[in-house]
Amino acid sequence: MAASKINLDPDLLAILVCPKCRSEFRVDDDANELVCTNAGCALAYPVRDDIPVLLIDEARETKEAETH
Ligand SMILES: [Zn+2]
Repeated sequence: MAASKINLDPDLLAILVCPKCRSEFRVDDDANELVCTNAGCALAYPVRDDIPVLLIDEARETKEAETH
């Protein structure tokens, strides 16, 4: 068997929001993460044993670094 996919309850996923910006998530199976759909936030939260770790301290930024 290949690496396990995220197996989240859709009802659970539907109520989860980014703790930083309150946006919805999309599931990234390859990275085992929940990724904030807010382009201005775009934090990715790890999922461990099918349990999302919705801690800003644990999240990583997926936003591309831009210099303004
Ligand atoms: Zn967010």
